[in-house]
Amino acid sequence: SEIVDVSTLKSWLIRFAGDVEEHAAELTELDSAIGDADHGSNLARGMKAVITALVDDEAPDSIGPILKQSGMTLVSTVGGASGPLYGTLFLRMAASAGDCDALGPQSLAQAFRAGLDGVAARGKATAGEKTLLDALIPAVDTLESALAEGTPFDDAIRAAADAAEAGRDATIPMLATKGRASYLGERSVGHQDPGATSLALLFRAAANTMID
Ligand code: ADP
Ligand code: MG
Ligand code: MG
Repeated sequence: SEIVDVSTLKSWLIRFAGDVEEHAAELTELDSAIGDADHGSNLARGMKAVITALVDDEAPDSIGPILKQSGMTLVSTVGGASGPLYGTLFLRMAASAGDCDALGPQSLAQAFRAGLDGVAARGKATAGEKTLLDALIPAVDTLESALAEGTPFDDAIRAAADAAEAGRDATIPMLATKGRASYLGERSVGHQDPGATSLALLFRAAANTMID
């Protein structure tokens, strides 16, 4: 069955943009502890531009092209590490999804896997470095393995969102070895990573909009 049609994809992006806006102060507060206090404003600006582009009369109206436009918008409007990384996530998802009207569970999981691989390559980071990958990796792993075990999509995407949140929480004791937080060395320990926090919002928004 087709889980993510064009309308669901748009709802997901709009929901995430709203959640980022709502949590912008919290994201920036987290970034003030181990970075430069701009993650909330960076991502809120980027997602606002994504939504503006999405509702334009000339906007694309199929899955891959919408994801591609969103990724390019993030790369061009968000200064800082998170713009190219979130941009890469959506651009790789776009290439994986292609120009279609809807994605089923397997194609969605494949698109997320392609996005994850792109983010890891772009940021030269891996699990355990206190970055948004620490939410993204468990979310994608969980979605894939749940579907492989025959778990219904609704339960699988909910489990993926739960895994992203657990991954976010697990960044607290980690030592940052990538991005600005790595400049703090041992002083990065004991703080929740802002990028992992926004990434968990992305998966919770997916669960909330893709389950009907
Ligand atoms: P900047 O650090 O340039 O100000 P943001 O504050 O918007 O950018 O984003 C910071 C977040 O980016 C971090 O919390 C972390 O999750 C993520 N990040 C930074 N560098 C990397 C990297 N190399 N790989 C993956 N994620 C990264
Ligand atoms: Mg920052
Ligand atoms: Mg910055």
